[in-house]
Amino acid sequence: METILFGDSAADISSAAELIKKGEVVGIPTETVYGLGADALNEKAVRAVFAAKGRPADNPLIVHIADFSQAKNYTSYIPALAYKLAEKFCPGPLTMVLPKNETIPMVTSGGLDTVGIRVPSHRIMHNIIVESGCPIAAPSANISGLPSPTCAAHVMDDMSGRIAAVLDGGASEFGVESTVISFDSEDTVRILRPGAVTREMLLEICNEVIIDPSILKELAEGEKAASPGMKYIHYSPKADVKMVEGDFLNFREYISVVNSTSVYSLIYDDDKDNFPYNCMTYGNTSSEQAHQLFQCLRELDEIGAETVYVRAPLKDGVGLAVYNRLIRAAGFEVIRV
Ligand code: AMP
Ligand code: MG
Repeated sequence: METILFGDSAADISSAAELIKKGEVVGIPTETVYGLGADALNEKAVRAVFAAKGRPADNPLIVHIADFSQAKNYTSYIPALAYKLAEKFCPGPLTMVLPKNETIPMVTSGGLDTVGIRVPSHRIMHNIIVESGCPIAAPSANISGLPSPTCAAHVMDDMSGRIAAVLDGGASEFGVESTVISFDSEDTVRILRPGAVTREMLLEICNEVIIDPSILKELAEGEKAASPGMKYIHYSPKADVKMVEGDFLNFREYISVVNSTSVYSLIYDDDKDNFPYNCMTYGNTSSEQAHQLFQCLRELDEIGAETVYVRAPLKDGVGLAVYNRLIRAAGFEVIRV
């Protein structure tokens, strides 16, 4: 199959919406990362999404809708707290896991009786939902296990020949996937995957916000993942990624020992002037690091890095999302210096 690369014009969006209606799979820009979109209610189309990514069948897809008022069409119960959160964070990078109704096929929910619902703010994704008239099931548009795509070229690199089309909407605004939450009670939510809607932001609305333990550490053998995606090694480039936690001088000292031509470091912008080894930088603030992380991991592969030592990000705000992706890219190993 030849993959069409569309731009962001109204005509291109309409053509892509037609493809979705026909059960095809399309790469679509969102404010988080690029998604691999299909009609969430069409089992065959959803299976094609899993096949294009090589995604395990038990890893559910998030269902994207145009307005939170439509959530009731796909769920059997919505707590009052969900409506309060929707008022504040929808449209935006927040996915709420709710009990699904029979409208959502089991293949879409990865066999679970819940469904993750999100209202994306990106104009193109929003228009695709409205024009196709379909709720859109969309995981990140990368081959399973690789870093998520934050521009159309990344999607073409992974998906060319595997899907009908890609819409080019420029670089993703946030650069990390949505925050996924579930509801522990009427006033408590649990973060299953951190993203740009941070714990601090959720605490403005919720009494309690629990960080699921799977976010920061590997599940023990036999332990059940609250979010199936969290049990897989993920976001990983070809290079061997190692995360190093500690201040800059200790980090530099550590690299001076392990340094070789195929070793690269991924460091903060502010570190660069005092760093005499192969390196790339990924910003200083957590939101800069979220924005640049996946792009950097892909580029490090392109320049032939075999081992990448990452100076660990901070863990507050959206930094928690960056840390969560990196610890998975590093196979849960952290070097403390
Ligand atoms: P991706 O599609 O690549 O953005 O990944 C979606 C993430 O959301 C995965 O980590 C899933 O495990 C999680 N997710 C989606 N639906 C559910 C659900 N019903 N229950 C728990 N986690 C979910
Ligand atoms: Mg993904």
